[in-house]
Formats: sequence, C-alpha cells, structure tokens
Amino acid sequence: MMSSPIVLNTPEIGAGRFAPTPTGRLHLGNVRTAFIAWLGARSSNLRTILRIEDLDPKAIPKGCLEGVYDDLDWLGLDYDECPRLGGPVGPYRQSERFEQYDGILERLNRLGCLYPCWCSRKEVREAAIAPHASDEGPIYAGTCRPAQFSPVKNLNDLPKKNGRTPALRLSVDRAIELQGSQTVTFTDAVAGPQTFDLRKSIGDFVVRRVDGVAAYQIACAWDDLSMGCTQVLRGNDLLPSTVRQLLVIRLLNLPEPQYGHVGLVLSANGERMSKRDGATAIEELRRTGTNPATVIRHLARMTGLPDTSDLDHLTDAFRICNLRQSYFQADVRTGSLGENKR
Ligand SMILES: [Zn+2]
Repeated sequence: MMSSPIVLNTPEIGAGRFAPTPTGRLHLGNVRTAFIAWLGARSSNLRTILRIEDLDPKAIPKGCLEGVYDDLDWLGLDYDECPRLGGPVGPYRQSERFEQYDGILERLNRLGCLYPCWCSRKEVREAAIAPHASDEGPIYAGTCRPAQFSPVKNLNDLPKKNGRTPALRLSVDRAIELQGSQTVTFTDAVAGPQTFDLRKSIGDFVVRRVDGVAAYQIACAWDDLSMGCTQVLRGNDLLPSTVRQLLVIRLLNLPEPQYGHVGLVLSANGERMSKRDGATAIEELRRTGTNPATVIRHLARMTGLPDTSDLDHLTDAFRICNLRQSYFQADVRTGSLGENKR
C-alpha cells in the first residue's frame, strides 16, 4: 500500500530549538545547553523555538513551567515561538500534540515497521542479548517480534495478553530491509562522524508506551520536523537517541536537521549536574541578587566564548565548529560563579 508523502507546512526560515523536560527548575547545566542552542540559532539567522517536552505532564511540578519561562526571560534568552507566545507551528507543548504522534505511528505502521510487545521490563531484561548495551536499557531480544512484517491491523485495538496492554516496538530488522543498510551514519556538527549498528547497539525500540502515549523518540523527531527545526544543538547524553530519531526521519523520507551534541556541564565533584546542585539553580541566583549579566558571562566562558555578557557580541562570535574542541576535552566543569575552572 502506497501512502501519500507527508507535507511539512513549516515556515521558509529554519529554526533552532531548546526543548527541556522541566521536572525541576533550570540550573547552570541545562541553561548552558539553552544558551548554546540559542546562540546557534541566532548566529545562523534561524527562528528560535522553546518547546516543552512534557509527554508526562504530571511529572512537571506545579509552577515549574512558568518558572522556566521566567528564568530564560531573566537571562535574556528570548524565543520567537514558545508556549507563552504561540506561533505558526504550535502548540509548543508535547502534551498538546498527542494526535500528531498517533499519525506518525500510523505512517510507520503502514511500512510494516511496528509490532506489539507484551513483555514486562523484567522479561525484557532477562531475555536481553546484551544487558547494558543500549542507553535505553538492554537490547530487546525480539521475544514478540513477528516472523514476517506487515502492518498491524488496528493500532488502537490491540489484544491484551495476561491482562497486559502491549507497547509498540519498531523493528530494526524491517528498518534495515527498508533502508538497505544495517547502520545509521551521520555527521554530528560537534562530535564529528558517527556510525551506529542498529542490531548491535540499538535493537527494537519502543515507539508507543504501554499507556498509549508515543515514546519520546517519536515525539521529539516529529516535533523537530513539523516545527521546521533545521538545527538541533543539545547535550551529548542524547546522541544515542538521535540515532533512533534519524532512523524514524529516514523511514518517513523527510529532511534531516543538522544535529550537534555538546558536552555536559559537570558539578564540582565531577558528576553530571542535576537538580541536587541547588546552589546553581537559576531561581536561586535570581533570589540572591545575582545579575543576569554575570551568569551570561559565566556561560560564555564555560563555552570558550569572549568574556562578555553582550548577547549580540556573543552571537557574532559564536561558531558551531568551535564547540568541537570542548567536546573532546573533558566535559566543562563549573566553578562557582566568576571563578570558572576548566
Ligand atoms: Zn515483547
């Protein structure tokens, strides 16, 4: 069955975006990613988009979203399109885009890529080929994978087994058949050439969760496409996710954004910065009377940019290719404000 190609009604000018999942307020770590993505878009004359990735809206604490918007405003990182302002390709919250994701799953289903999986987490782990091989957990052993691939009859009326509603997985075997290659290869704007073996390092991954909500990979890939994001600058913890998202984009035969993955900021003890580093929460800095210019200067120094808080100057000085080096060095470490230790 042939399906009509997807028409993307996106503005002529491309976009860069910052797409947080605000389960807590912003801290220096995720603000640095926002800062880099914002400079990347502005320096390339792209639209700037703030998108909220809230596939689990209940996980967002009350007041947190408004707080995140206020923190970014305070720093001077403004967005052309965001939940507050709206825009031509909204809504800008994933919790308001579920219908679109269902449409994409239907498209993938027509390609014969999807199958229901009734396995519990425990069963997936116990049957796994390589228990820790993938960032999303063990590589799926294929317990529920059908012998032949054909579209699932009705995605919205799948039978239960042992009282369990199934998740949906994307078969990398079918994807390999369709794309004629068992690897996904791309050039990361920061990290350089990347090659991932779909069977060995990815495996059949979940595209719709047991609760019926599209998985992050589907939502994120589709949002970037449908919002006209041509540049995706984000933390290097998401590099393996990009493989899955690119695979989906290629299966749908749609234009790929340029991806760039930057090093993460580590806390003083060398761990990935998290909510626990309360002292560096932007909210805290605001409350204790820190000047936003101090924070911007600090972010600029952590990114190897000129020592200034002038965002126009920083935009002029910013080059994605210069981020490369900081990736190959150890992740940038933050000192306290004003005494950046590298
Ligand atoms: Zn299964």
